[in-house]
Amino acid sequence: MKHLEAPWRSEYVTGASSGEGCILCGIGGDTGKDRQNYVLHREKGFLVVLNRFPYINGHLMIVPLRHCPDLSGLEDGELGTLARLLVKCEKALVHGMDCMGINGGWNLGSCAGAGIEGHIHFHMLPRWSGDTNFLTTVGETRVLSASLDDSYNRLSPYFNAGGGER
Ligand SMILES: [Zn+2]
Repeated sequence: MKHLEAPWRSEYVTGASSGEGCILCGIGGDTGKDRQNYVLHREKGFLVVLNRFPYINGHLMIVPLRHCPDLSGLEDGELGTLARLLVKCEKALVHGMDCMGINGGWNLGSCAGAGIEGHIHFHMLPRWSGDTNFLTTVGETRVLSASLDDSYNRLSPYFNAGGGER
């Protein structure tokens, strides 16, 4: 797929915080750069971050801080936290992005479309009626109408990065 507008893309590729190795471990360990990395929330070994390569505005990822390849590797306590964060993200997307629906899921393995293999993360995407237009369907091109900063500002009140509920 191609992006018509992705001004943050080069920033992401050249960003010092990506470091070497796993990008998600890098973001997880870099607590001083949460705003810069678009981290919205940290809770009990997890973080919630905006995807810098969003399929749609407000595309969230729930990420365990532990470098764990699959859901089977998560402890019971971590699975409980993941479930609570799914609810938190649902509320944030419904109220912060005024979305009409949500897609959620995870990609295990490159054949399933995993962009970052080896570190499980759960995607949540807000949806609006009519957001799949002919460009997406025919041209395999996504149109993003808002910046990552705009999405961050809309969502942060619902997470602890915005001083909201913890
Ligand atoms: Zn990792």
